[in-house]
Formats: sequence, structure tokens, C-alpha cells
Amino acid sequence: MINLILFGPPGSGKGTQAAHLVERYNLVHISTGDLFRYEMGNNTPLGLQAKSYISKGELVPDAVTIGMLRNKVEAHSDANGFIFDGFPRTIPQAEALDHLMAEEGTVIHALIALQVPDEAIVERIKLRGATSGRTDDSDENIIRNRINVYKTETTPVFDYYAQQGKSHSVNGLGSIEEILARLCAAIEGIERKP
Ligand code: UDP
Ligand code: MG
Repeated sequence: MINLILFGPPGSGKGTQAAHLVERYNLVHISTGDLFRYEMGNNTPLGLQAKSYISKGELVPDAVTIGMLRNKVEAHSDANGFIFDGFPRTIPQAEALDHLMAEEGTVIHALIALQVPDEAIVERIKLRGATSGRTDDSDENIIRNRINVYKTETTPVFDYYAQQGKSHSVNGLGSIEEILARLCAAIEGIERKP
């Protein structure tokens, strides 16, 4: 079993790379952002709650996000491993994830951060916004707020796993194939126990 956190700022390519990694390593992909967009698309109570935060580029409260994540993990308790994309975004979320993994008899094996400079991110997200239909991708102020939230609330998660000796960084600039090769090289070096 191998459980990975794919980490990095908004627009750093987590979703794109996760799709390749799940195939290669036969993992279950959990993107909390995708889960929220599914709920919003169906106008569920959870979706409506999430929308008020996402539309401003803020984080949905930890309790809501952690509860949703827990349901998804428990629904796949027979998985070969997980790739968490866009979660955890805060230290309390990281602590909750470690707790949940322990309950499942496993651990987070590694966090891999895609490194992409701010200006490249803003350009990529604006490009994505032209086709994604995501309102949080089309307004530069909202994009910049997401980057700020990432820096203040989410980057401490890198240090949290670094203290466990589990954080790795990969250059997130280049072609999809080049970045995938860097991620795979990092994953091959990870110890897979328990
Ligand atoms: N979001 C959140 N918690 C999560 C995942 C997403 O609050 O665990 C919200 C947050 O407002 C974020 C938005 O959903 O800006 C989009 O997240 P996603 O991960 O899809 O965007 P990405 O960072 O990949 O561009
Ligand atoms: Mg994403």
C-alpha cells in the first residue's frame, strides 16, 4: 500500500498528474476540490455550503472538508492506496488525515510538492478558466486570494510532513511527461511500509 499527498499551489498540475499516477500505481484518487464541485453541481446542502467559500477563494471549514474526506476514504477501505489531491490544506486537516490513516491501519507515506512560481500559476489558472467554467478561475483577485491562502494556511502542511521525514519537492515546470517522470522517480524512492 502507498498513500501519497500530491501537494502544491492552485494550478500547479496536481489534478493532471494525479490522473496519470492513479493509473500507473493503481491508486484511488481523492480530490476534495472535485468532490466539492460535484456537490455544487448537484446543489446539495454540502455543495451550497461549500460554494459560499469557494466563490471567494477561501477554504471550506475543516470540519466540513474532513467529514467529506472521511466518507470517501471509508468507501474505499479495500484500496491499494490513495492519492490525496488538494487535501490536506491546513495543519488540523493533516492531523485528521494521519488519524484516519491510523484507523485504517496505514500511514501517509509521502507528500510530494509541485513547485511552480506565482506568475506561472496565475497564467495557467486564467487559461484553465477560459474552458473550465470555474468562476474561481476567471477572476484575478480570487486567484490571488487562493495563492495567499495557500501560502498562509497550506504551506505549513509541507513542514508538518517534513518533520516526519516525508516531504519531497519536484520541479513543476516542463511538459506533462517530464513532470510525471520526476514524480515517478520520487515515488520509487519512497519506503512503502506498513
Ligand atoms: N477547497 C477547500 N478545501 C479543499 C479543497 C478545495 O476549501 O480541501 C476549495 C477552496 O476554496 C479552493 C477551491 O475549493 O480554492 C478549489 O480547490 P481545487 O483543489 O479544486 O483547486 P486547485 O487548487 O486544484 O486549483
Ligand atoms: Mg485541482
